[in-house]
Amino acid sequence: MAGVEFVDVRKSFGAFPVIKGVNIEIADGEFVILVGPSGCGKSTLLRMLAGLENISAGEIRIGNRVVNGVAPGDRDIAMVFQNYALYPHMSVAQNMAFSLMLKRSPKADMDQRVKKAADILGLTKLLDRYPRQLSGGQRQRVAMGRAIVRDPQVFLFDEPLSNLDAKLRVAMRAEIKGLHQRLGTTTVYVTHDQIEAMTMADKIVVMHDGVVEQVGRPLELYDKPANLFVAGFIGSPA
Ligand code: ADP
Ligand code: MG
Repeated sequence: MAGVEFVDVRKSFGAFPVIKGVNIEIADGEFVILVGPSGCGKSTLLRMLAGLENISAGEIRIGNRVVNGVAPGDRDIAMVFQNYALYPHMSVAQNMAFSLMLKRSPKADMDQRVKKAADILGLTKLLDRYPRQLSGGQRQRVAMGRAIVRDPQVFLFDEPLSNLDAKLRVAMRAEIKGLHQRLGTTTVYVTHDQIEAMTMADKIVVMHDGVVEQVGRPLELYDKPANLFVAGFIGSPA
């Protein structure tokens, strides 16, 4: 495992600044949620951590390593996206093994990792099914399985539940938290849903228009919002 650090990170698209000097420290094993309204820069920040987007200035560290310029595949992270398209022509097991196949992992090692991930996620009996034969929640679990098999130092989630119906969303929150309790992997989780943030996070980072407004435990933000923006955002219904 490893912690993560953003040091005065900036990003512009053309002349348009979208991340304006962000500092965040995430401890080893912490479950941190980046929350804020749509367009405030959450996905951009996560994509920079994943190496899918260059950073314009500043430094990103994973563990003790500065990863600016390190290719996504060499960052030892795994990302679960909002639109977790599974490969329709591959079984659950093949979907989970695919990234390992690309890395040419030995078959025995691959099988063992898939088996372990399936066990953790309750997918053992579904390994031979195809995505169209799965419920929404099961598909979501396969998407997480694809990340788990890689045994990364850091998990990244970008609004993984926003396409699910309300009931399933609540159930999956508990599953993701359970997974974190079991594996203890440092997790950076993005959502625009303040209820999700308040119920899941060890630590919340409230973003607004490319800056961090406040960092704190859920109850700290609730009891002592740093400003009107945080008070309004955390206090308003989802
Ligand atoms: P969030 O995930 O918080 O909704 P994003 O990080 O997706 O926000 O976007 C932050 C800002 O950056 C938005 O104004 C968005 O339009 C802009 N943006 C994101 N990606 C690009 C891009 N590839 N090119 C230009 N502008 C972008
Ligand atoms: Mg986003």
